[in-house]
Amino acid sequence: MSDQTAVGAQDADRDAIAEEQHASAEDGGALCAICQSNRLGDSIRAVNGRPACDPCIAQIERELAAQRTPGSAYATAAGVGIVGALLGALVWAAIEIAVDLEVGYVAALVGLLAGLGVKLGARGSRGVGLQCLAAGLAIFGLLAAKYMAMAHFVVDYVRQDGIDIGHFDAIVFGVFPTYLGDTASEFDVLWIILAVGAAYRIPKKTAVTIS
Ligand SMILES: [Zn+2]
Repeated sequence: MSDQTAVGAQDADRDAIAEEQHASAEDGGALCAICQSNRLGDSIRAVNGRPACDPCIAQIERELAAQRTPGSAYATAAGVGIVGALLGALVWAAIEIAVDLEVGYVAALVGLLAGLGVKLGARGSRGVGLQCLAAGLAIFGLLAAKYMAMAHFVVDYVRQDGIDIGHFDAIVFGVFPTYLGDTASEFDVLWIILAVGAAYRIPKKTAVTIS
């Protein structure tokens, strides 16, 4: 009888110890930093220096793999990015034509739309290559804005002399380099910085290190 009691007491002790260990595992530091589960195996890996479980790491690796840019993504990113840049350029040119003033702060909008276009077209891909594409298209958008505004004024001007030409006439294109040179100012540097700055950050890769 006394033996049985002793065994029962040992069982109770074991239960208490097991419960204590479980509790310490729950509120101790051995939790996945991402899903807060205690699925951390023996091989503890880290994401940005914090412990993470294998399913979470696998999930992050899948997301990172999706961010790598296949060649086809560049084509669609460039296509949608050009549309975005041209939309921004239209807004700029429309404002310039309406108020007869270069409103350069719209440069940020040109960059933003170019960057968003690239991001949309790249369908989840990100990285420095796409960032450079966005920056390049932002500058393309600025040039397009200047061209649209200039073409509008040139076409208007020669129409007064009875000459009818289109906005994309060779004569209009021919005037463009001279126009660019004549109207270039230190403000253009600011507009380029605004546009490129807005575009470049949009398709940036998420910073994750797995160790
Ligand atoms: Zn986890």
